[in-house]
Amino acid sequence: MEDCLFCKIIKGEVPSNKVYEDDYVYAFKDIEPAAPVHVLVVPKKHISCLNEMTEDDELLIGKIHTAITKIAKQLGVDEKGYRVINNCGKDAGQTVMHLHFHLLAGMEMGEKIV
Ligand code: AMP
Ligand code: ZN
Repeated sequence: MEDCLFCKIIKGEVPSNKVYEDDYVYAFKDIEPAAPVHVLVVPKKHISCLNEMTEDDELLIGKIHTAITKIAKQLGVDEKGYRVINNCGKDAGQTVMHLHFHLLAGMEMGEKIV
């Protein structure tokens, strides 16, 4: 996707603070961190949001979640805990239309929505 910010980040056309990469996944620090640890975990394949996922992407979703657990360990937040958020669509406040999971940690997160 030519105009997609996260595709450009994955290709290195827009700078990012990378924390993890494998064949399927790229992860980098959020530019406006909402917690001491705030990492965006994105598939290298352009999928705009969860609505666009198909059964063919089931392996990929597993890869993303395996990456999240590796990153949590790598950043030393696995023991104390972390929150994983996906915003899908307008009501959830999704602003970048390339599927991504927020990994938040490093503080007590307070009130839960769910
Ligand atoms: P969402 O609101 O769930 O679509 O999340 C998009 C996230 O992307 C927000 O938390 C932004 O702060 C973050 N973001 C936007 N542009 C960049 C960028 N160039 N580098 C890193 N994070 C970004
Ligand atoms: Zn994209």
